[in-house]
Amino acid sequence: MHELGITQEIVELAEARADGRRVRKVVVEIGRLSAVLPDAVRFCFEMCAEDTSVAGAELQIIEIPGTAKCRACAGMVALDRPFGRCECGCTDLEWLSGEELRVTQIEVE
Ligand SMILES: [Zn+2]
Repeated sequence: MHELGITQEIVELAEARADGRRVRKVVVEIGRLSAVLPDAVRFCFEMCAEDTSVAGAELQIIEIPGTAKCRACAGMVALDRPFGRCECGCTDLEWLSGEELRVTQIEVE
C-alpha cells in the first residue's frame, strides 16, 4: 500500500508548513489518475499524524477528475482511470488534469 508513504509525506509537509503550530485542517488535492486512493489516505492519515503537530487535524480530500486531449482528433476525453480511449478510437491521449497530488491548504491554530 503505497498510500502509507504518501500520507506520511503529506503529514510531514503540513508539519513543516505549520512551523511548530498545531494543524487544524489539511486540504489535499488528489487526481483520479494519480493511482492514489483517497480512502486509503484517509485511513492512514490519523496513524501518520499521531505524535506530530498534525494529530487530530481534519483531512479534506478534493478529488480532481481526469481529463485528456486526443492527439488524433483533438477531442476532449474524460478519464476516471489512468487509461482510456477517445470516441474516434485513438488511445494516444495527452493528460491535462488528474495527476495532481498536492497539499493545497493547511489551517493552523
Ligand atoms: Zn480522438
